[in-house]
Amino acid sequence: MTWETVIGLETHAELATRTKIFCSCTTRFGGEPNTHCCPICTGMPGTLPMVNRKVVEYACRAGLALNCEITRRSRFDRKNYFYPDLPKAYQVSQLYLPIARNGRVRSPRRRGRRWSASTSCMEEDAGKLVHDPWLDQTRADYNRCGVPLVEIVTEPDFRSAEEVIAYLEKLKSILEYLGISDCKMQEGSLRCDVNLSVRPAGSRELGTRTEMKNLNSFKAIARAIEYEARRQAELLEEGGRVVQETRRWDDNKDATFSMRSKEDAQDYRYFPEPDIPPLELSEEYLEGLRAERPEMAEERKQRYQTQLGLPEYDAGIITGQKALVDFFEEVTALGVPAKEAANWMLGDMMRRLKEEELEPKDMRLTPATLVKLIGMVQAGRINRNTASKVFRAFSRRTWTRRSG
Ligand SMILES: [Zn+2]
Repeated sequence: MTWETVIGLETHAELATRTKIFCSCTTRFGGEPNTHCCPICTGMPGTLPMVNRKVVEYACRAGLALNCEITRRSRFDRKNYFYPDLPKAYQVSQLYLPIARNGRVRSPRRRGRRWSASTSCMEEDAGKLVHDPWLDQTRADYNRCGVPLVEIVTEPDFRSAEEVIAYLEKLKSILEYLGISDCKMQEGSLRCDVNLSVRPAGSRELGTRTEMKNLNSFKAIARAIEYEARRQAELLEEGGRVVQETRRWDDNKDATFSMRSKEDAQDYRYFPEPDIPPLELSEEYLEGLRAERPEMAEERKQRYQTQLGLPEYDAGIITGQKALVDFFEEVTALGVPAKEAANWMLGDMMRRLKEEELEPKDMRLTPATLVKLIGMVQAGRINRNTASKVFRAFSRRTWTRRSG
């Protein structure tokens, strides 16, 4: 029997605001445990939350860029659950009246293919638990409590891992161009829950789905989808039954494992958040945001072709990631012709990024260093080959000192 995989996604992106969603604690990553928190974000009795204006603005910007209808009067809800890294024992979220609904994202690869991308709603992050194996103790660090998140949910629109990755790449690009999230997957500021079921090809009914939570690399997402689709298909072919549950993807074992049976919304006893009044957005406010919309990837790609004369391929690669665009802009601002800058970036630089599995923004090479290097090659002080070697040394993830 042939099986069709059906996938829906819930993506959480941390918003790049300076302060948390309901208090003025910093959102900076890291820091000594429990130094970025206060009575509000640790949920002490008697404290009152105040909504961060910037969070509302960023959520609206995301909603507009995803072609959503913005809810002019939205509301917060309490999602109740106990977890040791959530001292309030509830999360303030938006269930019934989220800020943005009914969005659409166009597939960059297949003409006419569109994915739904509704409901970017605001939530607050939880802290984290750190296990100390020496003392055999688990400790709680509440620094991340109350860091603002936007949740972007899709319908079960996807049929393969490739389609999911194409959507996530596009979503990441949109959030980065808007400048509202740094989307660092390895730090967890962009993470994805994958809902997956299988059904006989041609069937219109949805099968029972499982959920894989907090996947934080494209590679893990693709492998988890392939594994889970195969597991469910094999289970059904043997006459078994898929259980609705949350499963954990183990990157080292290359498999998913059952975590707990999946809760439904009613298990969380959602109710309207009594401490926060509904959010009212005026048409002028939204008009202002629409007017300030920055140039996005596709528009910039067009401009690089027409204004700078870059080939379509080059323009596509550079504008595919906001960090590459920023790098390119700086290099050309320092006087390097566009085509020359693109050649260096698409050749040596892309190769190094791939080899080291680096994100452009984590690279040690600065635009100024590249410009200097190009200048030395042009002046005949070093040849292209030596330049490539210098390039390699500068684009390593960490310095490695070689003796002898
Ligand atoms: Zn706080």
